[in-house]
This record gives sequence, structure tokens and C-alpha cells, in this order.
Amino acid sequence: MILPSDSFEAKGKRQKLIDSLRIKGIKNDNVLEAMNRVPRHVFMDNAFLNHAYQDKAFPISSGQTISQPYTVAFQSDLLNVKKRDKILEIGTGSGYQAAILLEMGARVYTIERHRELFNRAQKIHIELGYSAHYFFGDGYEGKPQYGPYDGILITAAAGEVPEKLLDQLKTGGRLVVPLGSYGSQVMKLIIKRGKNDYEITDHGLFTFVPLLKGVVNGK
Ligand code: SAH
Repeated sequence: MILPSDSFEAKGKRQKLIDSLRIKGIKNDNVLEAMNRVPRHVFMDNAFLNHAYQDKAFPISSGQTISQPYTVAFQSDLLNVKKRDKILEIGTGSGYQAAILLEMGARVYTIERHRELFNRAQKIHIELGYSAHYFFGDGYEGKPQYGPYDGILITAAAGEVPEKLLDQLKTGGRLVVPLGSYGSQVMKLIIKRGKNDYEITDHGLFTFVPLLKGVVNGK
């Protein structure tokens, strides 16, 4: 796979995108600096290359989307990632969000249910020199053997919070999930205060593709 290089032009557009995210209310410098280092266009399908630095979601393969930059920034901020944190991401998709978490210094474990996307994201990461732990599987199950996690980030719309993921969260750990049905979801931050003791707060409306059970094999 030959990836587009990170041109002077792309860097300029990216800086403008980051400035616009700040204007939209993202204040977390760790997040914004990480996003300024990751060439989003490399994660896009060729047809949308020229749109990579618009603040919009775009289609990737398997009928899925690369999340909108504002959404990536918002979820990364809520997760409150610190260096060396162990983060579990549900929905690798393009691999873009995982790259942001890696740039923030996290140890990243990421699960994808579409075989094609699982392969594609790893290829892009190898080319860019990123290294996460990639799993093909159903994110509802999590990855208990590598837990517990400091943070769990669900990047697809869940009808309910997957119980097994709560079990894999450290005490003091944070789980970020867009909760709700098709069309619109409420961004929830769930902080584990103790066994069966959770603090839950709401953070506005977002739109994600659905979190689905099982896996899709293929290419
Ligand atoms: N974080 C991604 C966003 C991708 S969209 C990015 O930065 O590009 C959400 C992704 O979640 C899709 O790729 C979809 O296939 C995946 N997904 C949905 N349900 C899943 C599940 N149960 N387990 C793992 N991945 C899932």
C-alpha cells in the first residue's frame, strides 16, 4: 500500500482544522497537539483525500465511517488520557482515533469486528510507524486478558453499556460511550468509583454508526 505523503499543504490545512476545534470549545492541548501530528488524510479513502481536513465524518470501507475530528477530540478529551495509560478502544475503524491515543502516549488495545477494516488500519499504522495491539473480534466482549484498563473508548453507538466492559475498567477508570439508538446518541462519561459504583455524566448529542454484535469476515 502506498500512502499519500504529509505535504506542506496538508500540514497547513491540519493546523487550520485544529484552530477551528479550539474555537468550537476543545481546550485540551494534549488532544489538539496529538491531532496536529496525525495526518488524517492517510486514513481516508482516496475519493475523499481532499476533504480530510474538513470537520466531517467520511465513509471508509465496509459501510463504516472515520469519525468527525470534533468528535475524536471530544471523546479523547473526556477520556482524560495520561501517558502510559492503558486504553481499550472498541471500533478501530480507520485507525485514526487509535493513532491520536498513541500520540497522547497511551498504550492502545483496539478491537474491530470487520476483517477488512482490521487489516486496513494495521497497514496504515505500520506505514506511519504506530504500534497498538489490534484484535479482530466483537468489542462487546472486551479483552479481559489485557485489562483492567485506565480508559475504555467506544466509538460506535451502543443501545446499552456493555456490562463486560465495565468489569474491565480499573477503579478510577473512565469509559466514554455514545449511548442511544439510531440517529442520535448522548455522550456518556462513566467513572468507576468502586465495585458496582459508577458516576455517570452526560455530554451532549452525537451521531455514530451502530455498535453491532458478532464479526464480519471477508477480505
Ligand atoms: N474509531 C474509528 C471510528 C470508526 S466507526 C476511527 O477512528 O475511524 C465505528 C467502528 O466500530 C466501525 O469500524 C465498526 O465496524 C466498529 N464496530 C461496531 N460494532 C463493533 C463491535 N461490537 N466490536 C468491534 N468493533 C465494532
